[in-house]
Amino acid sequence: MSKYWSEITKEIKPYIPGEQPKDKTYIKLNTNENPYPPSKRVIEAIKNTANEKLKLYPEPTVEKLRDTIGEYYSLKNTQVFIGNGSDEVLAFAFMAFFNPGETIIFPDITYSFYPVYANLFKINYNLISLDDNFSIPIESFSEKNSGIIFPNPNAPTGKYIDIEYIEEILKKNMDKVVIVDEAYIDFGGISSAKLVNKYPNLLVIQTLSKSRSLAGLRVGFALGHEDLIEGLNRIKNSINSYTIDTLALYGSIEAIKDEGYFEETRTKIINTRERISNELKNIGFYVIESKANFVFISHSSVNAEELFIKLKEKGILVRYFNSPRIDNFLRVSIGTDEEMDAFVKGVKEILNS
Ligand code: PMP
Repeated sequence: MSKYWSEITKEIKPYIPGEQPKDKTYIKLNTNENPYPPSKRVIEAIKNTANEKLKLYPEPTVEKLRDTIGEYYSLKNTQVFIGNGSDEVLAFAFMAFFNPGETIIFPDITYSFYPVYANLFKINYNLISLDDNFSIPIESFSEKNSGIIFPNPNAPTGKYIDIEYIEEILKKNMDKVVIVDEAYIDFGGISSAKLVNKYPNLLVIQTLSKSRSLAGLRVGFALGHEDLIEGLNRIKNSINSYTIDTLALYGSIEAIKDEGYFEETRTKIINTRERISNELKNIGFYVIESKANFVFISHSSVNAEELFIKLKEKGILVRYFNSPRIDNFLRVSIGTDEEMDAFVKGVKEILNS
């Protein structure tokens, strides 16, 4: 360990992103990217912006993008915060709304970045144990806490909580911030964005990485009461004024505006997910009902790690989590129909070998 590291650096256990091996071309179903390219309008906007605007600093308040997202959700632009991917928005939210030494709660099986942020900012956390069928027991959100965060749909299970339950959670926790991480909401769920004007303690976080095919552009956003958004701006403006570059700004505006393309691609992904879920069930898989762009699956006659390794040898990359309770599951992102057919074919060959 370096003698130059600060105490904070020595203690942290950073998040490890999904692998991106370069030894051959893989069918990549391991990081929940969208298999379809971004809207042509995005590419056009980025090209024009690159020609005209790159010598100048970006606009630090990303006004036009906040206008566009605000309009989309019928909110004021002062109720919108934009960050460099939703990971950055999440990190800022932990800093802005949760106190060091106090205890927040989140599910025991969930996005593995939450404990990393909590540890980094010295926030304690209690884990809510999921039910046998991986549902989040809603009553657990009544336990004493200084903040709440959960994804809806949950990751890596894909399980979705109905908006009525979210409203119950919000009502029971009016004195602290409840963050609903909606990275995967566009694949069949209903956004809690419509509750923002009713609950000043609600922060909804979304991303353009999944349903808008822009994981490489790094744009995420938060919707909430103006007071929460101001809190996020305080943190951001104390770290980096220019988190959104000019290409991301103009590209994102077109991604939100091109509703036709968005509808077409997310519908394709939902349809493929339903088809593949049925095919997997037919060959003996336990498939958790998913409202995300991935499925979480296990099979009684094949070990998940072994299946993961054998699929990788065949050039198909999925996600295996070596952690308690889910170490016999694989998370498989929904690719194109051709990619998913190759995945099912590969799985069948392994099961029959
Ligand atoms: N939240 C959840 C639940 C996720 O799975 C991810 C993707 N890894 C993110 C947030 C972050 O996505 P991004 O930073 O690309 O917006």
